[in-house]
Amino acid sequence: MKPNTKKQIHPPTGWGQVMDIANPSEEHQMLRDMVRDFVNENVEPQALEFDRDEKFNLDLLRSLGELGLLGITASEEYGGSGLDAVATVIVHEELSASDPGFALAYLAHSMLFVNNLEFNGSDEQRSRILPKVCSGEWIGAMAMSEPDAGTDVLGLSTTADQREDGSWVINGRKMWITNGCIDDEGTAADVVWVYARTGTNSKGRAELSTFLVENGMPGYSVGQKIIDKTGMRASNTAELVFEDCVVPAANLVGQVGDSMIHMMRNLEIERLTLAAMSLGIARRSLHEMNKYATEREAFGSRIRDFGQMQRYIGESWAKYRAMRSYIYDTANNMGLGNAGQRLDSDGVKLFATTAAKEIADAAMQVMGGYGYVAEYVVERLWRDSKLLEIGGGTIESHQKNITRDLSKSPEVIND
Ligand SMILES: Cc1cc2nc3c(=O)[nH]c(=O)nc-3n(C[C@H](O)[C@H](O)[C@H](O)COP(=O)(O)OP(=O)(O)OC[C@H]3O[C@@H](n4cnc5c(N)ncnc54)[C@H](O)[C@@H]3O)c2cc1C
Repeated sequence: MKPNTKKQIHPPTGWGQVMDIANPSEEHQMLRDMVRDFVNENVEPQALEFDRDEKFNLDLLRSLGELGLLGITASEEYGGSGLDAVATVIVHEELSASDPGFALAYLAHSMLFVNNLEFNGSDEQRSRILPKVCSGEWIGAMAMSEPDAGTDVLGLSTTADQREDGSWVINGRKMWITNGCIDDEGTAADVVWVYARTGTNSKGRAELSTFLVENGMPGYSVGQKIIDKTGMRASNTAELVFEDCVVPAANLVGQVGDSMIHMMRNLEIERLTLAAMSLGIARRSLHEMNKYATEREAFGSRIRDFGQMQRYIGESWAKYRAMRSYIYDTANNMGLGNAGQRLDSDGVKLFATTAAKEIADAAMQVMGGYGYVAEYVVERLWRDSKLLEIGGGTIESHQKNITRDLSKSPEVIND
């Protein structure tokens, strides 16, 4: 059959204007440009050294406060920038394309603490604490995981008991807490969002409540900085200890036993931004492998002319574009203040984290021995990418959640 060259389909007015899903407005594009410039000038030059020395660049994180990035989703009246989910994805993508370890420290502060407080704290708590964390005066963290409970969050054993004067006493240990300590001397984060068990419901399940624990409160300390991590070495990970830690009544967030609601709400933005970090890793890996494949010659040809190299590059491009579309599509549809995006926040993280790991691996293969050393960047991205399949929910937990949600709402498949 010959193609019909006479008939033309006339597109409706507006066609031809390409909508960039990753930069849906001029403001988003300006934000991306600003962060990219900042990254080139300030993040990229320190990335290799801080990874090698397993050190967290506290001053660099604080400096993001001046750009309005630490409180990116927080209200402007409390020093935040009041931006949306797409903006958070842009910032995490750009930071992670250079330094995923640093980006993880940023995520722990701005998403796990600041965003959580913005949407779940009381006006009094927000007005008291947000200005400090938005400016970078205080560094925040979120403590859910424990030595004996990670995926099984209802199995956590840290307890909080209320005293007669209304204050609370917390006992337990938290594990793997990003920003849990902010230096090598074991200085604790200024403020931690802590989940603790405050009771058991009629079905025998744990009731969880949230407490804002501030540095200096008696009984709160750093157990250890966790060293020798595979990747994300430019972020500090710590064990936290709460030993008869006394927290005033004013630092209980929401109602007693209500934390599952806000935990689930904040997990959605956490998973989306972890997926955005994967996107940054994928983009940079693709950039490096593409460049190397053009410059490197073997057997009298550029290695990009070999079919096996083309498979690495071609498949990486397609995966990168697919993750980019899915992540920004999800971000464009995500309202920050309410839950309801779990299917896709799990979906983007499930897909993007493994895709990023595979793309970093392809880059290393294309770059041969050079890909295996730090100076050529991708070995760091390769190591960093693995954490994203574990932190903020393992890929197995995403598979489980997606399957459960699709059984409850099968109609979404055909929507
Ligand atoms: C560098 C780093 C930074 C982190 N930062 C933070 C942080 O800031 N705050 C915080 O609270 N936590 C943090 N975490 C903890 C992280 O979220 C947990 O490691 C993660 O949730 C997994 O928990 P786990 O390590 O206890 O593994 P487990 O839950 O013990 O899982 C072990 C394995 O069992 C599988 N598994 C468990 N249950 C099931 C099931 N029902 N079905 C199928 N498979 C299952 C898991 O998928 C996994 O493969 C961090 C971890 C790391 C390594």
